[in-house]
Amino acid sequence: MTWEERWHPLREEWVIVAAHRQDRPWSGETVRHEKEKLPEYVSDCYLCPGNRRVSGKVNPEYTRTFVFDNDHPSVSPDAPLDLAPPAGIYRNQPARGVARVVCYSPKHNLTLAELKPTEIENLLHIWQSQYLELGSRPEIAHVLIFENKGEVVGVSNPHPHCQIYATNFVFKTIETEARASRRHLAETGRVLFQDILTAEQQDGRRIIAENESAIAFLPYFARYAYEVFVAPKATHPSLATLSRAETRDLAEVLKRILVKFDNLWQMPFPYVMPLHQAPTDGGDHRGFHFHIEFHPPLRKPNLLKYLAGPEIGGGNFLSDTSPQEKAAELRAQPDTHYKHRPEQETE
Ligand SMILES: [Zn+2]
Ligand SMILES: [Zn+2]
Repeated sequence: MTWEERWHPLREEWVIVAAHRQDRPWSGETVRHEKEKLPEYVSDCYLCPGNRRVSGKVNPEYTRTFVFDNDHPSVSPDAPLDLAPPAGIYRNQPARGVARVVCYSPKHNLTLAELKPTEIENLLHIWQSQYLELGSRPEIAHVLIFENKGEVVGVSNPHPHCQIYATNFVFKTIETEARASRRHLAETGRVLFQDILTAEQQDGRRIIAENESAIAFLPYFARYAYEVFVAPKATHPSLATLSRAETRDLAEVLKRILVKFDNLWQMPFPYVMPLHQAPTDGGDHRGFHFHIEFHPPLRKPNLLKYLAGPEIGGGNFLSDTSPQEKAAELRAQPDTHYKHRPEQETE
């Protein structure tokens, strides 16, 4: 039984953990999404190689990854500069920035979980170069890379891809993490995320996968049932300074987490996956420790975590699952993807 409030040191907020009223731990239910099997190529998919997009541009016959400027950008170098000044206390600024799409693979029917470790490693290098290129622009204060996966988070096209929002402001969560990290470094001389890693390692029950230089854990202060953080063990403000070996290790741990997620209910596991990297606003971000966060919206195969009174109304999360139990469930999942197991039980 866990019934307490836990401090989220990166977001600087309380999470109410009320797992005392929870039903028994999940006991083996799976969802089989037999559906139609997806083909490798779909002629009207705007992300498949060789297809025409709404802008009229034609995708190249790419063979690995493909990056392009979003045809429906929310921020753009073309956003209007001449804005009507609002009344009184209100403020506005031009929606300047760059929005891009990164296709992980030419194959329509793959997911990140099914890419080979070397392909995930290649993707990490693409993210590195995007962060460096966009972050070096003077008007860009932050580069947010994220993947939305699954219909429950509003993604209708399963073609494996993520998005990049390079903006002239720093997204709220990153701003809070950067401020908390800077203050912790100034006050203690230590990196906040390193102290989190130390606490996770001391306890040990929520670590899901690790190798020499990378680690994945379901944090003590998790807001979602299956929230997982994946990070290099050494502090890097962004992906940009990871060594080749660290990038390889990170790809390996990332792959294991993705496979475990899919294996949990034997379905493509939906999530929102942001990369949390230091702002590129010229500030002092030595205490910022790059990490990848997974925010899966499901608590059970067909049960969403609804955001309601506490979350939307008050801004703090109420979690009714025990992080250590959920970590144990994920740890127990095999490292081989269910689609690739030779003797798969079908009934
Ligand atoms: Zn496609
Ligand atoms: Zn974070």
